[in-house]
Amino acid sequence: SSNTDFLLSVEDLTVSFDGFKAIDGLNFYVDEKELRVVIGPNGAGKTTLLDLICGKTKPTDGSIKFRGRELTKLPEHRIVWEGVGRKFQTPSIYDSLTVRENLEVSYPRGRGVWGALAFKRDQALNDKILEIAGVVLLDDALDTEAGLLSHGQKQWLEIGMLLMQDPALLMLDEPIAGMSARERELTAELLNRLAGKHSIIVIEHDMNFVKQIGRKVTVLHQGAILAEGDMETVQADQRVIDVYLGH
Ligand code: ADP
Repeated sequence: SSNTDFLLSVEDLTVSFDGFKAIDGLNFYVDEKELRVVIGPNGAGKTTLLDLICGKTKPTDGSIKFRGRELTKLPEHRIVWEGVGRKFQTPSIYDSLTVRENLEVSYPRGRGVWGALAFKRDQALNDKILEIAGVVLLDDALDTEAGLLSHGQKQWLEIGMLLMQDPALLMLDEPIAGMSARERELTAELLNRLAGKHSIIVIEHDMNFVKQIGRKVTVLHQGAILAEGDMETVQADQRVIDVYLGH
């Protein structure tokens, strides 16, 4: 199959910071509705890769095609419109707003004020809020102020806020950091459910969690792919053991 069949095709991607190549000639492909886990040692370039895909950082060289469209020339907000949602490690929720209000303000208005107003007037927005709240396990907390949620619930709310924009690709940087064991389990289930509807790229260090969610794993090292495949293959790869898993 040709590379145009992928939802996301990253080719020959390089970014240099003062001559240091944080990403170095990377080729990386993600299918529709795929859940991909990216692992690798600190400094491997994992966060930088997500920064490049969402447009926060612009590459020195190479291309990032999303549904065949080149993203590297688009500003960050346009990349969101294209259907790319990025969650950072620190949740950017509005503490003084309720869960419902946080979801409501996340509905994309950039595509046209009139569209957003028309949407708001009918039942559709409310239905969408209820649906997304259920997906991210917050349907019992719709009227709770976001600042009062548990750490894990705040992370889920931010995922819900991204889902309000109906992204084809969701990118999550260490989503379970700081979560309780129960919240981690629920997050694994949540991501497995979401993967049927969206493509997801997850950066993760917790190998138990990776085993629960990872179908295909990409191991980054020094800005390039060291290994790629299912968890068992990657775990048995001596190069991966040497630079990452052996520690
Ligand atoms: P990882 O997420 O795998 O830990 P990063 O993508 O954060 O790795 O970083 C990869 C390398 O690029 C690191 O050596 C880091 O110091 C460097 N780096 C990342 N962003 C910048 C930047 N804006 N300026 C300079 N160096 C950077």
